[in-house]
Amino acid sequence: MATNVHTSTHPSKLLAPTMSQHRTFKNDEFWRALPGYADVSREEFADARWQLKHSIRKVDQAKNILGHLLSEEVYQDMIQGQHITPMNIRITPYIFALIDWSDPINDPLRKQFLPLGSQFLPDHPYYAEDSLAEDEDSPVEELTHRYHDKVLFLPTTLCPVYCSYCTRSRLIGGSTESVEKETYGVNKKKWEAVFEYIKTQPQVEDVVLSGGDATMLTAAQLTEVGESLLNIPNVRRIRIATKGVAIYPQKFLTDDAWFGALTGLHKMGRDMGKQVVVHTHFSCTHEITDWSKQACDRLFDAGIIVRNQAVLQAGVNNTVEEMVMLTRKLAYMNVQPYYVYMHDMVPGCEHFRTTIKEGEELEKAVRGTTAGFNTPTFVCDLPGGGGKRHIASYEYYDQENGISVWSAPNVKPGKLFTYFDPIHKLSKDAQARWMDEKTRQAMVDEAIKKVE
Ligand SMILES: *Cc1c(COP(=O)(O)O)cnc(C)c1O
Ligand code: SF4
Repeated sequence: MATNVHTSTHPSKLLAPTMSQHRTFKNDEFWRALPGYADVSREEFADARWQLKHSIRKVDQAKNILGHLLSEEVYQDMIQGQHITPMNIRITPYIFALIDWSDPINDPLRKQFLPLGSQFLPDHPYYAEDSLAEDEDSPVEELTHRYHDKVLFLPTTLCPVYCSYCTRSRLIGGSTESVEKETYGVNKKKWEAVFEYIKTQPQVEDVVLSGGDATMLTAAQLTEVGESLLNIPNVRRIRIATKGVAIYPQKFLTDDAWFGALTGLHKMGRDMGKQVVVHTHFSCTHEITDWSKQACDRLFDAGIIVRNQAVLQAGVNNTVEEMVMLTRKLAYMNVQPYYVYMHDMVPGCEHFRTTIKEGEELEKAVRGTTAGFNTPTFVCDLPGGGGKRHIASYEYYDQENGISVWSAPNVKPGKLFTYFDPIHKLSKDAQARWMDEKTRQAMVDEAIKKVE
């Protein structure tokens, strides 16, 4: 009988290739194409310790691994990048090998983690190192308490990769040629003060553990932080934020002690009626492989919910095609697309930023392409500490001059906030207006007056 023909065919076979692309995951030994990794076996590459130990931390290491694949021009450009960037280099071999080295200039992963001197633009006149004013809303070190019932806790300043666009470049990853940083690693005395503070705030139910990255805590440290928080009666929900799933999936697959600490916390939470979930950060489909799928499958098997927060970045994910594909691919891996952020106005990031208009257009195009619960909310985290706002909820938007004015009724009642589109995306006339300090300030004042 041929009645079951369709059920015995994998559903993806019934679709045109472009429709099922989100269901295919790269699984070849892609790293062996790089001269320095030609002899690295799959077992070695799968080992989380190997990945961390062989992380690329200097331009010359990159050069050695790439050999003839790296042109002198791009090499010099990378060295120039190191003079400017506020972030040190650190890239897992996994991500490094996913870069298309035949076209490094345009590769979205190279853009995120290996800045080139030639790509930087002057910072926006209203950029700030602590653009979100996290320090201002910080009652004790390593903690930001901005919203009524949720807090942001930064227990470490280390990450397995350093993103050149990090919103906390003022703290994360150690000093660079252009920025001195006082913080480094883990400080348990500061943790104690954080726990004590949360205990005194009975309205706080929700703790975001960010950083830095939770994969850089040892298993024992992760357990200590998680258990201390779960044991605070008012804490109901913990999110463990880690880019690890995206850039270091081996951690979830071969570091059983660490993975056990994570699942242990999840189980402890569940037994107490509390949520422990993972928030991760995939930016684009180029960084999703079968390794990502396996890491997400392992988390799914353990019953741990995973959500994704991406940053909207020019040349990385700012096309409809890429954003829809990213959304579908994440959903297929049981990762819920949660937020897409407008880029923060931090140093060294002007080339990444997009206009509010562009964000709105992308949000419009993505909504409706898949399940509503798998559709990310596009938000702007307001410079100056107004918190996250839906991208279309500004009070006023002068699109010509790239000035939007926002309110934050719950977070900072009565106060207005501004976000600015990147100047290089404005008309020539508007760019000229921005060059003049007085005209610039007058435009901003005028926009604010429209709302007051
Ligand atoms: C983003 C953030 C949170 C969490 O906000 P959600 O919208 O619930 O994801 C909490 N505190 C601070 C300071 C934040 O920046
Ligand atoms: S993983 Fe997060 S905290 Fe770490 S460098 Fe990247 S953006 Fe910054």
